Amino acid sequence: MQVTSTVKETRNFIRKWKQEGKTIGLVPTMGFLHEGHASLIRKCREENDIVVVSDFVNPTQFGPNEDLEAYPRDFARDSALCESLGTDLIFHPEPEEMYHDPHAYVSIDTLSETLCGKTRPIHFKGVCTVVSKLFHIVTPDRAYFGEKDAQQLAIIRKMTEDLNFDIQIVGCPIVREEDGLAKSSRNTYLSKEERKAALCLSRAVRAGQEAIFADCESEAVLGKMRAVIEAEPLARIDYISVVDALTMQPVEQVKDNVLVAMAVYIGKTRLIDNFSFTV
Ligand code: AMP
Repeated sequence: MQVTSTVKETRNFIRKWKQEGKTIGLVPTMGFLHEGHASLIRKCREENDIVVVSDFVNPTQFGPNEDLEAYPRDFARDSALCESLGTDLIFHPEPEEMYHDPHAYVSIDTLSETLCGKTRPIHFKGVCTVVSKLFHIVTPDRAYFGEKDAQQLAIIRKMTEDLNFDIQIVGCPIVREEDGLAKSSRNTYLSKEERKAALCLSRAVRAGQEAIFADCESEAVLGKMRAVIEAEPLARIDYISVVDALTMQPVEQVKDNVLVAMAVYIGKTRLIDNFSFTV
């Protein structure tokens, strides 16, 4: 497995592989890898000749009062996991390699303004910028993203189409802990008590999935989900919403293809979860 930290050396490997006619899959991550990331890497391994994982805590997607400094990092563990999954190259740059101030940004309106975008106004601009850069550096045939970050996935699909990247975007299902909590690098922030409380998110998902069969009014579904979360004293809802799965705009009725998404603070840790529903 190759480990690169510069754009130049990464491009050299990519050029060689492309000359050999190999297909390339990219899994963008911020590191501190867990089973969720591993599921993306495995799918990428199945579908491509070459697997590239990027491992980069992207500063431009963090707001001024967010957890950029505290974000967990363990590159030795990440590279061991990547190697065991058959990764060909990990791209692990320093921020200075990726950004030279002042620098260009890529952003997408409307889809970025609801859900997480309301609380994290610069987040998706940072995501679109870093993912565009990775797409230009790695020029993959396919790129893999988790449905755990459903708004991010919708935004990346739209950006890929709008900017004519010739890349297939592959969405992968949410991987959960045995008790239902969606796997996340941020779960490490939770105390024992908070870890228990965090189960209200996946319980709310299940309540929402059941409610949707009984009532197609969004408010009715959200009411059932809110009740589950509000019963948990350590939880505070940031948002919970039913949106059109393509536009990310709120809908009053569950029809066509919708995304039911939430962000909930458990103590100081903000966690997200969601489910999609197609009529
Ligand atoms: P991150 O390192 O948090 O930026 O995540 C990198 C990629 O892994 C993103 O496409 C995430 O959606 C995906 N991912 C993170 N957690 C999970 C999970 N529990 N299940 C599936 N995919 C995930």
